Amino acid sequence: MRNVDSRAGERHVRALLSFWIDADEAGLPSREYALSGRSRKAERAAAERKRRKERAFRDDAGRLHLKLHRDPATGGEHLTLKAPLFDAEWQNEVATSAANTALGVLGHAPTLEGVLELTERAMASTSRLIAGLLARAPEGALACRSGCDHCCYQVVGVTAAEAFTIHAHVVRTRSTDELERLRAHVADLHARSRGLSSAERFSAQHPCPFLEAGSCSIYEVRPLSCRGMNSLDASECEARLRDPAARAEFLARGHGGRCFIEPISAFRAVSAGLQLGLSELYQLDTRALDLTAAMLLLLESEPSVSRGWLAGERPFESAVRDPR
Ligand code: SF4
Repeated sequence: MRNVDSRAGERHVRALLSFWIDADEAGLPSREYALSGRSRKAERAAAERKRRKERAFRDDAGRLHLKLHRDPATGGEHLTLKAPLFDAEWQNEVATSAANTALGVLGHAPTLEGVLELTERAMASTSRLIAGLLARAPEGALACRSGCDHCCYQVVGVTAAEAFTIHAHVVRTRSTDELERLRAHVADLHARSRGLSSAERFSAQHPCPFLEAGSCSIYEVRPLSCRGMNSLDASECEARLRDPAARAEFLARGHGGRCFIEPISAFRAVSAGLQLGLSELYQLDTRALDLTAAMLLLLESEPSVSRGWLAGERPFESAVRDPR
């Protein structure tokens, strides 16, 4: 695996508002949301072209990226990638490993308990991987500190598997009254942010619903994307969130601030493998969701959401992340 290199790591990356990988309906985990993207019509046309091209490359099981191997002697199964997803080989290895973990944990009949176990494993592995990478960073280079919350004011992308895991965590750890307060809080944030673009929601007016007094209230089960976020300059993060001029310049520039790119690459690789495993092995919907909208849906409608999702339905339609 590539070492964290401070020079390479300080490259500017198109990260902050465009860091999510979306395994969309076609199962291709390669789309990034750009700040100044194409028009919706152009997006739809490009998506249709992509779907047509991908239909031609699917195997009999409908798989586009994963190949399932079965040992005729033992019946044991494992997955490989049909073609690299990433330029870096270590990311392909991580993605393949995540997809194989999905196969190992879920077998041939995914259950909610299995999906929760799988996602918790993926979250723990992502954190371990990122901690190992950051341990190689020069002393004091990382600006992120406990209580620093500048990156928690934006649309937070999750998959359904992560949303179920967060929901199960809050149900397990909060009282009935606390859950009702959380539901009301999430509903209020959702009402204030619904219909806004990613750029408009990158604002101190639109915190993540789980940000409490400057800290993450679901730290153990925070989304994979949150685990990859990092910065080399906290004052830059603060300025672009709270200083209107710096914010406008940041949004116009269309790329993130100085950070190590490897943690972002690591979370992307794990997420891609997880999404591919769930979508290509079990035909589960792994589109990128808006955490706020997904959580409101779960707080108001579980367990019918997970039942529908496991049956191959698309109960998260209203929470699918707006690509703007
Ligand atoms: S889930 Fe936690 S770390 Fe992620 S944006 Fe929300 S408060 Fe911040």
